[in-house]
Amino acid sequence: MPRAGIVVTGTEVLTGRVVDRNGPWLAERLRDLGVDLAHIAVVGDRPGDVEAALRFFAAEGVDVVCTSGGLGPTEDDLTAQVVGDFQGRPLEHQPALEERVWAVVSGLLSRWPGLDQDALRQSARKQAMVPRGANVLDPVGTAPGLVVPPPDGAAGPTVVVLPGPPRELQPMWRDAEANPLFRAAIAGATVYEQRMLRLFGIPESEIAETMRQARDAGVDLDALEITTCLRRGEVEIVTRYEPQAAATYAAFDAAVRERHADTLFSDDGTSVDQQVAELLRSSGRTIATAESCTGGLLLGRLTELAGSSDYVLGGIVAYANAVKSAVAGVDPALIERVGAVSQEVAEALADGARSVTGADVGVGITGVAGPGGGTEEKPVGLVWLSVAVGDAQRLTRSITIPGSRADVRDRATTVGLHLVRR
Ligand code: ATP
Ligand code: MG
Repeated sequence: MPRAGIVVTGTEVLTGRVVDRNGPWLAERLRDLGVDLAHIAVVGDRPGDVEAALRFFAAEGVDVVCTSGGLGPTEDDLTAQVVGDFQGRPLEHQPALEERVWAVVSGLLSRWPGLDQDALRQSARKQAMVPRGANVLDPVGTAPGLVVPPPDGAAGPTVVVLPGPPRELQPMWRDAEANPLFRAAIAGATVYEQRMLRLFGIPESEIAETMRQARDAGVDLDALEITTCLRRGEVEIVTRYEPQAAATYAAFDAAVRERHADTLFSDDGTSVDQQVAELLRSSGRTIATAESCTGGLLLGRLTELAGSSDYVLGGIVAYANAVKSAVAGVDPALIERVGAVSQEVAEALADGARSVTGADVGVGITGVAGPGGGTEEKPVGLVWLSVAVGDAQRLTRSITIPGSRADVRDRATTVGLHLVRR
């Protein structure tokens, strides 16, 4: 199987000021192509460091290295030079490319007349310097990408040089994928099948147990690449396998379904958010929330999907008790008697969300997000959630969520979506 490495360049990424979006994105694209990813290296904008990463990957014997960043016109943009040197391919000026870059850059002059024309011309020239024998990938912004083969007659990785801004890198990847030099470098890749199962309401260790049982029952799990991870309180099982292992996957899939029938909620990559949206849309129902400890996070997630105005009416952030009463209509005497974090108040919030907005479905959430404020009876992490559907149907649950304040609020939001999905 061909192998690849990724070099993400940028001091802003290395220092954590910008979160790397290119490494993970490229990792997934390479995976889709059946290329095994060895490592992702993050390096600052220092030529020596970029070169060291290339040397490392060449020593690892990878077939392809993808780089992101450092393709721009400024002083610190050195990737083309470093990669050219590494591959023994001196930079050559391509006049036609300079004119293409200039056409884009000069467009900037009409919008920013104060820009220095000579400097812009200079930068267009710099971006038209291409390692000899490399292929150029059409610029999306102003920076052209490159596919740079190893030195003539030598073994070594082909380097795909891409710009840093994700909105430039992602469209350019389509050209990179189709490039003949790149294709030659990943020859022999097998495209794997990939399946994803999502479960809610079990610990990750349960999957290890299911795997153990499947193995005992004779399923050859070694033919599958199974990764499980816990995300937002959901367990995700991603399995990759070669087409000839389809029957083995089917046996594993059946074992998961048998042991986890009640917690498996998605087998086609859909999220609970999408399922709730689909459910509301297909049933023609509308939804509203009244949230205390989650402070509107549930409404935020409900409205993340495009088209949510078809079924989301709105919500109340009823954080203070006075607002729970004055806006969401919760009886102050009830709060006094049972406390704000209680089954009764969660139910009253769900009813309040419905009656204030006229929605079919109301969700109430109240809990102790912490880190302070917990008691023996109502510890930090205790959350009550209630979903009212029409006047007759109601589902109320409590859950105690471990972790930080952020964990409690995030998990409570996810639990809310799963309750609606029921
Ligand atoms: P430019 O012409 O914009 O300079 P470039 O190829 O030189 O393009 P960089 O200078 O490395 O790219 O990065 C430009 C900007 O793109 C960064 O400041 C950052 O906002 C964004 N960016 C770069 N790399 C990444 C990354 N790995 N993840 C997310 N954003 C990134
Ligand atoms: Mg730059």
